[in-house]
Amino acid sequence: MSPVSSAIPRHLLPCDGRFGAGPSKVRPDQLDVLSELGSSVIGTSHRQEPVRALVREVRTLLSEFFTAPDGYEIVLGNGGSTLFWDVATFSLIRERSAHGVCGEFSSKFAAAVTAAPFLAEPAITRSAPGQIELLAATPGADSYAYAQNETSTGAMQPVRRVPGADSDALMLVDATSGAGGLPVDLRDADVYYFAPQKSFASDGGLWFAAMSPAALERTAAIADGDRWMPPSLNLQIAVDNSRLEQTYNTPAITTLVLMAAQLRWLTARGGLDFAVGRSAESSRRLYEWVHATSYASPFVTDPAARSHVVATIDLDDTIDAAAVAAALRENGIVDTEPYRGLKRNQLRIGMYPSVDPDDVSALTECIDYVVQHLS
Ligand SMILES: *Cc1c(COP(=O)(O)O)cnc(C)c1O
Repeated sequence: MSPVSSAIPRHLLPCDGRFGAGPSKVRPDQLDVLSELGSSVIGTSHRQEPVRALVREVRTLLSEFFTAPDGYEIVLGNGGSTLFWDVATFSLIRERSAHGVCGEFSSKFAAAVTAAPFLAEPAITRSAPGQIELLAATPGADSYAYAQNETSTGAMQPVRRVPGADSDALMLVDATSGAGGLPVDLRDADVYYFAPQKSFASDGGLWFAAMSPAALERTAAIADGDRWMPPSLNLQIAVDNSRLEQTYNTPAITTLVLMAAQLRWLTARGGLDFAVGRSAESSRRLYEWVHATSYASPFVTDPAARSHVVATIDLDDTIDAAAVAAALRENGIVDTEPYRGLKRNQLRIGMYPSVDPDDVSALTECIDYVVQHLS
């Protein structure tokens, strides 16, 4: 039984109905590249030139896309951002870290560090869901960790060095959903890490990190020390392999092919500025609609913290957001459901650079239509 009394009229529908916060929309062009180019790399050795050339291309394009400062290196490995938290726990934090926790993702990294028997208890600054409390200096902290974009709540914060931090403290920025859709100057981070299934419109399975000279030095020093670490979490091994355009073990090659296609697409249109502009335009349209709509309100109250890549929109209690998302899904508009853990009457909309701002406008009309026709 349909929760709406009638289907959304075709002329209102977006061209592409994927609004997930991650995995997110993969453009049809990228899938064409996959079928054209796939057989020359997929199913071939990652130690041979075709795959190594692909890794080289992705690393080079990322370096250009982020205008990597001298000495910064793009490092990659298997396991996504979640695995990278464990990598950072073993390979980057020397003794004590300070964490900004403002949602599900940032809390997982803090929990991994708290459980590590070889590290001191971390300093944790917690923000209420949907809010951002910027980190303050913690004397003695050798690493600071926060998320540029907290995907579970739709709150973003600027990438910056924590004022007053110890001079050799590293800034570890979880940019999984921020990278490629939000502005960044890499000089403000030591490790800017992310996964390919958000702004880079690829599949999951890998992590990437833009690492500063200080982070590379720290990695080498810890790897040389007496801390036991599993090889798969040894960042020095990943650095060494990345320099050879390889990964320690077999990478997700399809993910690399899709990612290279997206990086070429973004680069041809103006790179990071284009990408940031497109997400900003999408979120501008979405929030303009929210302000004009009596039954919708922004979950993130501070306008400056409202993410340009993931919007969280509360609906009036009289409207069942889950029913709205379900009706949208029946009409081919998918993944507008909120983050479960938040337990709010809410829609969550991914607006990564692949998403056409016109489709965001169409989405708002579809939401209006569904709300008017909910039975
Ligand atoms: C999606 C996401 C992660 C987890 O990424 P995986 O590649 O699935 O491990 C971590 N942090 C943030 C901010 C995310 O949005």
